[in-house]
Amino acid sequence: MTVLVLGGAGYIGSHAVAMLVENGYDVAVVDNLVTGHREAIDASIRFYEGDVRDRAFLEKTFEIEKDIEGVMHFCAYSLVSESMEKPVMYFDNNVGGCLSILETMEKFDVKHIVFSSTAATFGMPEKSPISETTPQRPINPYGESKLMMEKMMAWQSQATDMTYVALRYFNVAGAKADGSIGEAHQHETHLIPIILQTALKQRDDITIFGDDYKTPDGTCIRDYIDMADLIDAHIKALEYLKAGGKSDQFNLGSSKGYSNLEVLETARRVTGQDIPSQMGDRRLGDPDELIADSRKATQVLGWQAKNGLETMISNAWKWQQSHPNGY
Ligand code: NAD
Ligand code: UDP
Repeated sequence: MTVLVLGGAGYIGSHAVAMLVENGYDVAVVDNLVTGHREAIDASIRFYEGDVRDRAFLEKTFEIEKDIEGVMHFCAYSLVSESMEKPVMYFDNNVGGCLSILETMEKFDVKHIVFSSTAATFGMPEKSPISETTPQRPINPYGESKLMMEKMMAWQSQATDMTYVALRYFNVAGAKADGSIGEAHQHETHLIPIILQTALKQRDDITIFGDDYKTPDGTCIRDYIDMADLIDAHIKALEYLKAGGKSDQFNLGSSKGYSNLEVLETARRVTGQDIPSQMGDRRLGDPDELIADSRKATQVLGWQAKNGLETMISNAWKWQQSHPNGY
């Protein structure tokens, strides 16, 4: 039986592929390499280069991979600011991709899917921490597209015997513990990789976006989840579905928040570097605080975040030092 990993050459997908293989799963990967890297997955993995929206290509892949026990779906465009400028492109890829995948799964009678949703589906929540009952009110096309994907899955699972788990990640960080794979986005926008590029002197400094938020030190607070913990949740979710678990959604974070300045200080400690910084203006659309209430994932999936921010930064630092220019 095979786990088909869609978007398996991306940052998170490539870690899922590596960890699935380590845990004895047979794995095949689909990716159009729009943001992913072939080098991020082992050469021995069966790899299908193509777009999930391309129905003929996807059906051909399902035909060849006859024995799919479940799909892990990581394909998406996922930059909030880009989505504000190009909403239609986001709905096309994220929602269009989802449509094609669900139809193909139905046609080939593939029963289970675990997929990447996001804290961005919650928008600017009034209460913290954020649980599964917190209203989802996205404030950008990226979050909206992911909420639409959740809804498509929900209706499809009601109408057929397909079951799904939506995992709403908070801020994903880290890399494989040996530093062999990690985050390699062409236009990096995320806090931790930018901090580490500054530590490596690839940038002069990091600008922290705003210190007038309603938080103790004035900078935004986020909940970081380590890559190994995140992939562990995917494997647990797949096993849960295979064991007959019903379709469900889970918020995934460490349930602990760090301010942007705390992240910077931790990175200075872990890397032993100065990491010059300056304070800048707010970035549009940043909520003050996003912290996950992940108790449901613990209760239902038996999952718990194990690794803290230091481990995430330390592993990402190993990756950054050994791959200063990505793959
Ligand atoms: P990524 O861009 O590194 O990975 C996405 C992968 O999907 C890439 O390899 C890309 O080439 C591929 N892809 C995109 N569209 C495709 C298509 N139409 N057909 C085939 N392949 C396609 O991003 P990531 O950070 O690894 O994120 C993975 C998923 O997790 C995304 O769905 C994202 O929305 C979600 N997510 C990420 C974070 C985070 O902090 N990185 C947080 C919440 C949710
Ligand atoms: N951030 C920052 N400087 C940067 C990049 C990000 O101050 O160069 C802040 C950003 O405003 C937010 C936090 O870091 O408060 C996390 O942002 P990131 O883009 O990593 O993830 P997001 O929370 O947007 O998913």
